[in-house]
Amino acid sequence: MNADLIIRNGHVLTMDEAQPVAEAIAIAGNTILAVGRDAEVRALIGSKTRDIDAAGGTVLPGFIESHMHLFTGAAELDHLNLEDVSGFPALRDAVAAHAAAHPGDGLMVAEQANYIILGERQPVTRQHLDRIVADRPFMMFAYDHHTAWANSLALEQAGILKGRELGPGSEIVMGSDGLATGELREFEAFGPVRGLSPYGSRARLGLMTGGEPEPPPTPTEFAHDLKVIGRGLAHCARHGITSIHNMDGNFYTLELLEELEHRGELTARARVPFHFVTTMGLPDLETASAMAARYRSEKLASGFVKLFVDGVVESSTAVLMEDYASRPGWRGEPLFTAERFAAIAIEADACGLQIAVHAIGDGAVRLVLDGYAAARAANGARDSRHRVEHVELIQPGDIPRFREMGVIASMQPPHAPGCQSFPLEPYLSMIGRERWPQAFAWNELRAAGTRLVFASDWPVSDINPMRSIKSAMTRKPWAPDLADQRQTLEQALAAYTRDAAFAEFMEHRKGQLRQGFLADLVVLSGDLAATPPEDFGSIRPSFTICDGRVVFEAS
Ligand SMILES: [Zn+2]
Repeated sequence: MNADLIIRNGHVLTMDEAQPVAEAIAIAGNTILAVGRDAEVRALIGSKTRDIDAAGGTVLPGFIESHMHLFTGAAELDHLNLEDVSGFPALRDAVAAHAAAHPGDGLMVAEQANYIILGERQPVTRQHLDRIVADRPFMMFAYDHHTAWANSLALEQAGILKGRELGPGSEIVMGSDGLATGELREFEAFGPVRGLSPYGSRARLGLMTGGEPEPPPTPTEFAHDLKVIGRGLAHCARHGITSIHNMDGNFYTLELLEELEHRGELTARARVPFHFVTTMGLPDLETASAMAARYRSEKLASGFVKLFVDGVVESSTAVLMEDYASRPGWRGEPLFTAERFAAIAIEADACGLQIAVHAIGDGAVRLVLDGYAAARAANGARDSRHRVEHVELIQPGDIPRFREMGVIASMQPPHAPGCQSFPLEPYLSMIGRERWPQAFAWNELRAAGTRLVFASDWPVSDINPMRSIKSAMTRKPWAPDLADQRQTLEQALAAYTRDAAFAEFMEHRKGQLRQGFLADLVVLSGDLAATPPEDFGSIRPSFTICDGRVVFEAS
């Protein structure tokens, strides 16, 4: 058999323990035909074989981004990015420049704002934002997307300037004048402002916060959303990502992706969950089972349920075992009680569904592990591969429970304060010095036999896996007495390839470069083994191949 495509002259890191390195690789159709010596692969060249020169770069299994939000990320590609902006004058100038470049009177949105963008003692208010832009609705998201700040016009148009009753965990912060201050905590609070965007209720109800868009999207809206998702997938391909685990979802998301697949434009494999929100009940899990039954291919699959049980530390919505150092008497409130979460876990597990839960505080992680234990007790142990997303804080006693129950820790190297773009404050003061050793405890979890997967949580962080891997390998302790959490290259790569494939029950098909596996791979511009991790940010994919097709090629 001849190869359709061969890649030579690269450093192939296969992530296959039986044959960790190779010289060349051959692909036929959507499958890896051979991995080995240059001569072996060259023997497979036929008249129609494309010969790709890796130019000495590393060749890897395609990256599996195991926690991201495709629609939101794609929609934000043309929002204002405030990653490096601090201080009022800089914020004012950045917003003014963006407004000039994007004229109109629709909602203007900024992302990646620091919680201390105006200084440590200066909380952002609508009045600050009104001084920057008053004649157009404007909303600015914190980097974690759990808090937003809106100007007066946005609050007024969204109908929340005078506040509104919300469910647990969300808050429209009110001022002493009886009006909203502009700070909006969690999805329900900023949802009405987000609803002013061209994505309207689709962003609000459908793609981000569970359920299906209501009313159903018109053909024009469907076409619009298809383009948005297409742009998001192109962004993934540019970064060497060949599989994604979307972390919000519904039938609508899957229908959009299915349409792209029919058109031959699905450039990454996608896994999409049923997003279970607090207003739902156990019968809603039938929809999750229906999604799992309808979408189960190697390109597009469902089969898991996503929930949030807490928020984030920076807005004091993460659930802690002990009080916040910054707020005595407060440890956060879970979005689901332990009893309710356990009932959901038991039911979802009994339906054969995988469960992935956002749990940032140690109290939230405990609650989730207790729920998984209840599911095991009720349904018996099975190969469930349930996941905990983020695990930013953990009680030492809970660490061994991951391995005992086969639970996967899905963690985000770019989120560790000081590691990539998130600052040390206010995070470290809010959790308090005593809890620092429990924060982002990658190596304690590994030492206890936990399987870790890494991701960016795009658009919370830059999707670029090379930046994330660099962050994982170069993290510095916050104090001299803290453990070294740095990851080896092999560990960081495994968390983006082999182990991420395991997390979606696909370890026999992808995540390694092996004969007979799916032809998903990335050719990098440099040799990782010969490059200090500090310089990984400058290494870029030169080719991304998914399902045997070149889906990105650097020009
Ligand atoms: Zn997320």
